[in-house]
Amino acid sequence: MKPVFLDRDGVISIFTPNDYLKTWSEFQFLPDAISGLQKLSGAGFNIVIVSNQAGVSKGIFSEHDLNDITEKMLAKLKKHSINILKVYYCIHKTEDNCNCRKPKTGMIEKFISEYGDFERSESFFVGDSDIDIELGSKAGMKTILVLSGKTKSAEETESWNYRPDFIVKNLKEAADIIINHSKGENHGKENQGSGLE
Ligand SMILES: [Mg+2]
Ligand SMILES: [Zn+2]
Repeated sequence: MKPVFLDRDGVISIFTPNDYLKTWSEFQFLPDAISGLQKLSGAGFNIVIVSNQAGVSKGIFSEHDLNDITEKMLAKLKKHSINILKVYYCIHKTEDNCNCRKPKTGMIEKFISEYGDFERSESFFVGDSDIDIELGSKAGMKTILVLSGKTKSAEETESWNYRPDFIVKNLKEAADIIINHSKGENHGKENQGSGLE
């Protein structure tokens, strides 16, 4: 099992400030997202999507709409030879105080209960916001921030409690880092350089 965990909005699909992707007609893949996913898929990674979708519990869209988006997204990706192992959503809002809303680690724990534990320190979480980086860090993974969504610049991360290990433009660049890292794994000594400072 070689999982890689990805946020959805702002990483795979467009980030819509102050709004949600409520229906498939509003859903758009980010440029370079499909090629990034193809690289990861082609390199044998098990792609897992981990996404907060509080719009459901807020009544902005239904769970049915969310599932419709997911089915169509997965079908589209399949046409590009991309298999997604699993999609996890937290549909709760903060006040619900669930254990799955990012930055809480419930969705990763769910994954572990379903697929077993994995080499967390060698695995990556890719996201576009501080909560993704916090979750990935808390779960013991390496983190990559993509600047294709909510976060627009590396400077924004300076005040974050959890800082990303890597900052890149998009999922395609994140895929390159992940694949290069996995190739280097067998060489023993790990290069911890983040390239951030
Ligand atoms: Mg996001
Ligand atoms: Zn939840």
